[in-house]
Amino acid sequence: LHSQPIVNKSDKKKRPESQGCLILLLMETVVIIGGGFGGMSTAVSLLMKSKNISIRVINKDHPAGRGVAYDTAHPEHILNVPVSRMSAPDDQPLHFREWLRSRPEYSEFHNKEYVPRAIYGNYLDHFFAPFLRSEQLQFTHARAINILPQETQYKVLLDNNSAIIADYIVLAMGNDLPAPPRGLDPSLDESAGYFSNPWNRNFLKDLKETDSIVLIGTGLSMVDCMLSMKKCGFKGKITITSPRGYTPAPHVEGPVYPGFYEELEGKDLLSIFRSVRKHIAKAAADSIPWQAVIDSLRLYAGKIWLNLSEKEKQQFISHIRHIWGVARHRLPQETHAELMRMIDSGQAEIIAGRITNLSKTTEGISAVIRQRKEQNEKTIRATRVVNCTGPQLNFKESPDPLIRNLVASGLIVPHELKVGLKALPDCAVIRSDGSIPGNIFSLGSFLRGVLWETTAVPEIRAQAEKIAKQICGK
Ligand SMILES: Cc1cc2nc3c(=O)[nH]c(=O)nc-3n(C[C@H](O)[C@H](O)[C@H](O)COP(=O)(O)OP(=O)(O)OC[C@H]3O[C@@H](n4cnc5c(N)ncnc54)[C@H](O)[C@@H]3O)c2cc1C
Repeated sequence: LHSQPIVNKSDKKKRPESQGCLILLLMETVVIIGGGFGGMSTAVSLLMKSKNISIRVINKDHPAGRGVAYDTAHPEHILNVPVSRMSAPDDQPLHFREWLRSRPEYSEFHNKEYVPRAIYGNYLDHFFAPFLRSEQLQFTHARAINILPQETQYKVLLDNNSAIIADYIVLAMGNDLPAPPRGLDPSLDESAGYFSNPWNRNFLKDLKETDSIVLIGTGLSMVDCMLSMKKCGFKGKITITSPRGYTPAPHVEGPVYPGFYEELEGKDLLSIFRSVRKHIAKAAADSIPWQAVIDSLRLYAGKIWLNLSEKEKQQFISHIRHIWGVARHRLPQETHAELMRMIDSGQAEIIAGRITNLSKTTEGISAVIRQRKEQNEKTIRATRVVNCTGPQLNFKESPDPLIRNLVASGLIVPHELKVGLKALPDCAVIRSDGSIPGNIFSLGSFLRGVLWETTAVPEIRAQAEKIAKQICGK
C-alpha cells in the first residue's frame, strides 16, 4: 500500500495541470512515528519549509502534540520548565507567555513561571490545530510496528494492517513506560497492586486510608504521584526509594552566575567536576545559590558532553548522573514545599537503596530494598507499588515491538551507554553497519546517549527544526 501524496489545494489552483502532475510525482513522503511534542514540532517545521512534501504522523495514543507529559487534566501536575522557555516555536520565546496572557480564564497564571501542564496541553492544542488542518499533513491513530527498507525508501507497517511508503522516517516515540524493577515477580500486575505506569493515575483508584504505598524512584514522576495522593486526601504511609535517595531540589530566583566554559573546555570529567564544585563554593561565599551555577553550566552542558570520551561518559552515568539529575531537574518552589511537608510530617519516607525483590503476599506486596549505607535488606509491606523510574531507554531490553524489530533488522543500534540509540548530534540515525542513510532521524529522549540534555521542550523544538532543515535542504 503506497501512501497517497497530498497536494495543498491552494498550490494546485495556482499551477498548470501538467505542473501539478509533476509535483505529485516529485512529492516526497515523511513518515513521523510518534505524534507527541517532538513529532508534531517536526511536522510544523517541515510545513513551514516546504509546500512540496507530504507528511504522515502516526500516533498510538494521547492527543496530537500532548504525549504523556501534557495529556493530563490535573492541576497539581505542574511544568518543571518556566513559561518563558516553553514556547512551541523555536524562534518566538514569548509565544507561550503571550498566549497565556491572552486567556482571561488563566488570569491567575498570567505572571507565574510554573503553570499546570494541562494549560500547556491546551496551548499545544491551539498551536498545532491549524497545522493539523493542512492538506499536506495526515495524522493517523495507529501503532507503527515495523519498518522495512525498500531500496532508497521504507515501508512502515502499522497495527491496523496498512502500510505507508516513506522517503524519510522520523522516530519520535518519546516516553515509553519505565523498565520493570529488578526482582519483580512477573505475576504482579495492577490487580495485585503493582503499577508499571506512574502517569495514568490508575494507582489512585479506590485508594484506602489503610493502604501503604511504595514509589520506586525519586524523580519528577514520583513528585507527580505524591501531589496526586495529597490532592485526593491520602493519609497512609508512603515509602520512596531510589539508589541514592536524593530529594528533588527547588528552583530559586536570584542573581545570574557568570559563565565559566573557558575553564572547562577540553578538560577531563574529574577536572570539570572539581571546577563546578569550586564555583559552587565561590557562589555560596557571595550568597549566590548553587542553582545559579548549574543554570549557567546548563547552557553549555551539551558541548561538554560531546567532548567527553566514551569512558568519561560511562563514568558520568555511574557516578554523577544522579546528582546531576537532582541539580538539573528541579521543582517549582511551591511544589517543593508541598513535597517537603509530606516528608517532614513523617507520612513519606525516603530510603536510599535498590529494590532487589517485589513479590506477592496475602496482604499485598513485599518490597525488599538493599539499603545503600547499611548494605542490609529492609522489607516494606505495601498494598501498592508504583514504578516511577522514568521512561525505559535501554533499547536492548525494550518490550516495544517497533524498537525490537528495528534493532533486529539493524536499522537502529542501541547506544552503548544503554540510553537510546546511536545517532549523530544533528539527529541522523546510525545503522548497525555504521552507515548513516541520511533519511532516518530521531529526536528527544532517544538521543540521550548522544546529547544527554535532550528531553525538554527547548531542546526538542530545536532538534525538530534541525531535522526539517536536513529534509528540506533549507
Ligand atoms: C510526566 C512528565 C512531565 C514532563 N514535564 C516537562 C516539562 O514540564 N517541561 C518540559 O520541557 N519537558 C517535560 N517533560 C519532558 C517531555 O517528555 C517533553 O517535553 C516532550 O513532551 C517529549 O515529547 P516527545 O514527542 O519526544 O515524546 P512523547 O510526548 O512521549 O510522545 C511520543 C508519542 O509517540 C507515540 N508513540 C510511541 N510509540 C509509537 C509507535 N510505535 N507508533 C505510533 N506512535 C507511537 C506515543 O503515543 C506518544 O504520543 C516531561 C515528561 C514527563 C514524562
